[in-house]
Amino acid sequence: MATITVAKGDGIGPEIMDATLSIILAAGADLQIEEIEVGEKVYLAGNTSGIAKGSWDTIRRNKVFLKAPITTPQGGGYKSLNVTTRKFLGLYANVRPCASLHPFVRTKHPDMDLVIVRENEEDLYAGIEHQQTDEVVQCLKLISRPGCEKIVRYAFEYARQYGRKKVTCFTKDNIMKQTDGLFHQVFEEIAQEYPDIENEHWIIDIGAAKMADTPENFDVIVMPNLYGDVLSDVAAQIAGSVGLAGSANIGEECAMFEAIHGSAPRRAGQNLANPSGLLQGAIMMLNHLGQTTVAEKVQNAWLKTIEEGIHTYDIYKEGTSKERVGTKEFAQAVIANLGQKPTRLKPVSYAKGSALKLPKYQRKAPARKELLGVDVFVQWPGLNPDELAQALHNIQSEQVELTMITNRGIKVWPEGFQETFCTDHWRCRFKPVNGYPMTKQHIIDLLSQAEGLNIDTIKTENLYAFDGKQAFSMGQGQ
Ligand code: NAD
Repeated sequence: MATITVAKGDGIGPEIMDATLSIILAAGADLQIEEIEVGEKVYLAGNTSGIAKGSWDTIRRNKVFLKAPITTPQGGGYKSLNVTTRKFLGLYANVRPCASLHPFVRTKHPDMDLVIVRENEEDLYAGIEHQQTDEVVQCLKLISRPGCEKIVRYAFEYARQYGRKKVTCFTKDNIMKQTDGLFHQVFEEIAQEYPDIENEHWIIDIGAAKMADTPENFDVIVMPNLYGDVLSDVAAQIAGSVGLAGSANIGEECAMFEAIHGSAPRRAGQNLANPSGLLQGAIMMLNHLGQTTVAEKVQNAWLKTIEEGIHTYDIYKEGTSKERVGTKEFAQAVIANLGQKPTRLKPVSYAKGSALKLPKYQRKAPARKELLGVDVFVQWPGLNPDELAQALHNIQSEQVELTMITNRGIKVWPEGFQETFCTDHWRCRFKPVNGYPMTKQHIIDLLSQAEGLNIDTIKTENLYAFDGKQAFSMGQGQ
């Protein structure tokens, strides 16, 4: 028996959670349930993250968390419980299956059946943002090798476990050669370990267009956090409805399962809501726990119920649907169908009894790291980069010299274009000359000289080579 943590959440949460639990328990899920409170009441009681300290202990002890949607109160100061949970518990993979239920739920894509595997912890969502000058703010995009390895391996293992044929990777590595470049490179490396599964990579823009146009050509798609956030909603919506999709958030130790929709407060307490999204999350949870026979039984009964035209208001359609039901009646219909399979929709078959287990990330030996120069960022109100270069020549030495200035990435000195629009945020690249090796002391000297000359330095970025390979971008137009 597995002990899981359950939070019934807000709005329609308690109704859809009761419906979901009644279905999976009737199907024979071997679960002990420990309930915690999260969401609106906890926020309003003064806990800005929507969860009490003691509840973390329950979640960490049980490791598996089934969570209904919550209402985040309006107004500032409340932190997203979802984001906090993902990060605290290291839930690096967000898995969202999106399959159409044609002809029972309206969709333009009758043959769509794909799974988005989204990296869940890093990328621009590291939340490291700074204003640096009057005119420019920045958000750090952090991509790590462990992050890439874990998510890409998860996508391939998932494909193998669920009999999927292909894993596609979306990145924008033609522009972001370091960050998205690493994600793509790790994808190519790990794909070699799975010769039984086809692999392909698309640049995200055309890849997204293809996914929205012919989603039936995709199977599993793995991508960094931001792209996955956007595209998983697109995929769920074009499959039929965001109200039907569930998601799994998987970590090395813990996992959280939920519906992708919110707490729909206006529908609360009226026995109206569709419990399908949370039920889909619960089915992923049962698979995760290795209770795959129960998961399969529930999914097939659910498909059968949808196919019979027993629909809640959100997917009910005159002509296609047969009976408009409430949350409770829908759950009862699924329970009555346990043990049956759909006849027109494709029944599912999950590998017996094996939960997906991945090896822990092993840190590799460090590479040979060589300092090649430094980018010193300055706030400067002028418009002519030649004048800035003139000023910066006063801080260089016989060992280190200014080689380039860019503005928002585009080279403006030497030999910039007059037409290039410039902000007050300048990147000034210094490199060693006359055979001197670059040292940290050179950077300190540059900053200290700049300070003496009233040049407003706002940050530095060191320029490195790792194992002899240059590991920073050139200026655009360089
Ligand atoms: P929502 O998903 O709650 O509702 C959007 C629309 O979908 C509404 O018209 C609603 O009636 C309908 N809908 C959603 N789920 C349904 C279901 N199961 N059955 C039938 N109809 C359903 O999004 P929202 O209105 O933007 O957000 C409401 C609250 O939910 C907000 O406080 C938001 O912060 C929160 N929220 C929570 C989560 C979460 O906990 N994971 C996710 C998203 C939004």
